[in-house]
Formats: sequence, C-alpha cells, structure tokens
Amino acid sequence: QAKADGRNTMSFFDPEMQAALNARAALEADLRRGLKQGQFELHYQPQVDYTGALIGAEALLRWNHPTRGLVQPDAFIPVAEDTGLIVPLGAWVLDTACAQLRAWSDTLDTAALTLSVNVSARQFRQADFVDLVLSALDRSGANPRCLKLELTESLLLVDAEETIARMAALKAHGVGFSLDDFGTGYSSLSYLKRLPLDQLKIDRSFVRDLLADPNDAAIARAIITLAESLGLSVIAEGVETVEQRDALARQGCLSYQGYYFGRPGPVEALFKHRA
Ligand code: C2E
Ligand code: MG
Ligand code: MG
Ligand code: MG
Repeated sequence: QAKADGRNTMSFFDPEMQAALNARAALEADLRRGLKQGQFELHYQPQVDYTGALIGAEALLRWNHPTRGLVQPDAFIPVAEDTGLIVPLGAWVLDTACAQLRAWSDTLDTAALTLSVNVSARQFRQADFVDLVLSALDRSGANPRCLKLELTESLLLVDAEETIARMAALKAHGVGFSLDDFGTGYSSLSYLKRLPLDQLKIDRSFVRDLLADPNDAAIARAIITLAESLGLSVIAEGVETVEQRDALARQGCLSYQGYYFGRPGPVEALFKHRA
C-alpha cells in the first residue's frame, strides 16, 4: 500500500523498521486496554530527612501487565507521551495520588507527608491542566500543600510565560513544585529565578559518582548552593549508600531519596524504610 499512496515510504519495506512499528502499535493498543482494565498502579518511594524520618514519597507509575508482569515506566512512558495516552494516564496518576494523600490526612503520623507526582511536558501543556489538578484535589479532599508536582527542565524551555502562569495558578492553591533531574537539562539561571519553584531535585547521575568524581561532587555542591540562594529546598535522588548521604549532608543537602532508604513499592512498605 506504500506504492498506492504514491509517497516515498521505502522505509516501510525495511523489515526491522516494520517490526519496530508493529511493536509500537501493539504497545499502544496494549496501553489503551491496560488503562481501561485498571492495570496501572502507583508505587511509593520514601523521602527522608537527615535523621531518617519519613517526610514524604514519590509516586512512581507501574504497569501490572497480564503477561509481561510489572512493567517499569521507561518501557511505556515514552510511547504514552508520543500517542497522547499520557493525558488520561496522567489524570489517573493524579487522582490516585490525591486519594492516597487524603487517606494519609486521617492520621497524625502521616498527615504532614508530601507526595511528589511526576508530570510529563505533554500533560502539563494540556489547556485544562490546572483544572485537572484542582479537580483531583477537590474530589479527593486532599490538602494541596501536600501535593508536589515534579517537572523537568525540558518543559520549562517552551513557552515560559504560559508555564509560569500555570505554576502560579496552582501555587496559589498551595500546590508545590520540584524541578526533577536537575542539572541534566539546560535551564538558564535567570529563567530559573522567575519560576515559582519550591525544590530542586539533584539528578541521580551526580549522586552516583559523588565520592569518586570531583566534578560530580562540584556539581552537587553548586546545585545545593543555588537552591539555598534561590530560597528553595533541595533533595537528592538515587542515594544508594550512607557515604553518599553523608557527603550530601556535609554540603548542606538534608533530604534524600534512594535505594539506601527504600525502593519504590506498595504504600505499606513506605513505613518500613531504613532510617
Ligand atoms: P524520576 O522521576 O527521575 O524517578 C526516579 C527514578 O529513579 C525511578 O525510576 C526510581 O525507581 C529510580 N530510583 C530511585 N532511587 C534510586 C536509586 O537509589 N538508584 C537507582 N539506580 N535508581 C533509583 P522509575 O520508577 O523506573 O521511573 C523512571 C522515570 O519514569 C521517572 O524518573 C519519571 O521520569 C517517569 N515516571 C514515573 N512515574 C511517572 C508518572 O506517573 N508520570 C510520568 N509522566 N512519568 C513518570
Ligand atoms: Mg521524579
Ligand atoms: Mg528524578
Ligand atoms: Mg532522574
């Protein structure tokens, strides 16, 4: 049929390319079905302070696939983004996260916990994104101050004014913002200053070699100093050892997330994290 529509679609006859296209189409159909059949779940990874006390969690999406088992986000988020399925999927994530926050608000022990939720650029740019978040909060009865949206630098490069306006609208209701994977993108410092952020999240690539690579240590230190000067909090992701935690603490970073404290898992496991 490539010939029939008269375009140069030579690549359609490349068997490898064709196989990739087929796999992608199958994945898309599978995703659509999974969403309809409730195959997605949120896992929670602890965030702790220097004393090891639980301060919050990050919600991480998992696909409980009937034949493939638990599928990690890197295997399906990119396709969900390309196909637009990230929009309904992201709405489900927000609803589920807000319901969890609402449940935590019932006990003194858990009422102050914050929940960080990842937001894709494509999702954030939907015209009704602000309403979507506010109505998820409303429906659940969750405290907006306990919800933290994680954005990435890439999102901030497109249409700065609109981005700032949306963030400000949500912030007016108490919603917080964290800049995820910080240091891996290209945001300019003058732009960063204008964003209504609450937190910078040091990318785990800098944490990994913190003790061995002086450049990574310098970058981590610079991010911590930057957060301080901008009046933002800072958290490190990917903390796998106590030595990494201590090195971060010496530089002034006092909030952590990583395998050392706990892997992402069902919500009950959050409360069994390592201090
Ligand atoms: P992210 O937001 O940077 O999440 C942190 C990732 O690092 C998670 O991978 C987490 O499991 C992993 N991680 C945490 N601690 C450690 C550690 O100590 N060592 C190592 N090696 N890894 C650690 P995960 O769950 O596979 O998620 C990957 C990415 O998928 C996330 O990166 C985020 O960008 C995206 N994602 C996850 N859930 C959602 C979601 O609900 N919506 C959207 N739009 N994206 C999501
Ligand atoms: Mg994140
Ligand atoms: Mg991250
Ligand atoms: Mg990261």
